[in-house]
Amino acid sequence: MEEVVIVGAGIAGLATAVALQKVGVRALVLERSKELRTTGAALGLFPNAWVALDALGVSDKLAALYAPIERGYITDVKNKLTREVHYPPSNRTGSQARAVHRKVLLEVLAEELPPNSIRFSSKISSIETQVEDGSSICIVTLDDGTIIKSKAVIGCDGVHSIVAHWLGLRPPVYSGRSAVRGLSVFPKGHGLDHGHAIQQFVDVGTRAGFIALNDKEFYWFFGATCPPKGMERGADPEVIQKEVMEIAAKDFPPVYLDVVRHSDLSTLTWAPLMFRYPWDILFGNLAKSNVTVAGDAMHPMTPDLGQGGCSALEDAVVLGRHLGDSISKHGKLETRDIGFAIESYAKERRLRAATLITASYLSGWVQQDGSSRLTRFLRDVVFYGILLARVVRRIAQYDCGKLPSASSLP
Ligand SMILES: Cc1cc2nc3c(=O)[nH]c(=O)nc-3n(C[C@H](O)[C@H](O)[C@H](O)COP(=O)(O)OP(=O)(O)OC[C@H]3O[C@@H](n4cnc5c(N)ncnc54)[C@H](O)[C@@H]3O)c2cc1C
Repeated sequence: MEEVVIVGAGIAGLATAVALQKVGVRALVLERSKELRTTGAALGLFPNAWVALDALGVSDKLAALYAPIERGYITDVKNKLTREVHYPPSNRTGSQARAVHRKVLLEVLAEELPPNSIRFSSKISSIETQVEDGSSICIVTLDDGTIIKSKAVIGCDGVHSIVAHWLGLRPPVYSGRSAVRGLSVFPKGHGLDHGHAIQQFVDVGTRAGFIALNDKEFYWFFGATCPPKGMERGADPEVIQKEVMEIAAKDFPPVYLDVVRHSDLSTLTWAPLMFRYPWDILFGNLAKSNVTVAGDAMHPMTPDLGQGGCSALEDAVVLGRHLGDSISKHGKLETRDIGFAIESYAKERRLRAATLITASYLSGWVQQDGSSRLTRFLRDVVFYGILLARVVRRIAQYDCGKLPSASSLP
């Protein structure tokens, strides 16, 4: 019998396993892929994520590799006007936003775990619970028929989560938008002055941007309300690159097109942008019989505020804290205490997750229209001029707290 089974070795799954191990709970992570999945290439981590990474004990390692993002430039493709946005350090925690490779983030988290904590090529196909000796136990079945019993299951299995489905949460919905992401490599260095600022370009129904990860690599994205032709899951990266450069973003500034031209094709992916209705999070079952969800499995959101991964890290720390508090109080982790800790975690995350989904959706909606005077006014004057920096600062100042100190644990 495992103590805890975590389904999925993405950001949420690995961060949760690290948080649990820090409070003395051993978790087995089941991942359907053969290795760590790095779809999406890179991501922006805002100050709230760095607070969580600090609690997980890996922030220094990562911060040493990536420069902070201090500002952004947003250019209107039609009239070429550019405005500057500042991303100051959080005045609560002093942390700053940084863009990081997904691979590096996942590897740094995985390195914190004891050997054999992650079992690859292990796709779960079903989950059930039953009562044994008066305690509820969880049973997960893998594709190959293997059965694993545990005291708790944490579903970190992404947008199309089997665990969320088992909890009775309604499936996420399509936002009507999709995005391409990838890395670009300039072997001799990109030499861009504003490399560590987020450069964004907006047009009617499209928004794109890039940010340097280091002197040689950029992370870039392209989002659109109508998917460019030929875009589908698993689409040929050459087709994706050609579509973006020659059709969808053909009027974008040369600097953007040059970044796309230098793409490492193996990193290019296209994805429809999905989200869960915030009311499903506020009123739905986020936990049942020692089973819960974290990360995209709980709160898939559109990426407009770059908070999906950041909030997955918050989830991990909050869940670890509730389990750790229970251990410090009772001396060990009893099955019935797990249920209580998981309920408290779900209660704490409900409002935060629903707020992030709503804020992300609205900011995506306002940024990606620009077809009329009114929508341009809302986008350029109200959102970029007044709201963006405040919304990002407010959301990113969130402090998920710390894990119980080792000395308070038995
Ligand atoms: C275009 C775009 C840009 C984004 N930009 C940002 C950003 O800048 N900042 C940010 O914080 N977030 C960003 N996000 C969001 C972020 O990518 C996600 O929120 C984050 O990756 C969620 O991590 P996760 O671990 O919950 O899910 P995932 O990364 O989806 O991981 C789920 C894991 O579970 C595994 N799995 C699934 N089903 C099973 C099963 N049945 N059995 C076993 N394993 C299973 C999968 O193989 C996968 O490894 C962006 C998203 C998109 C689409």
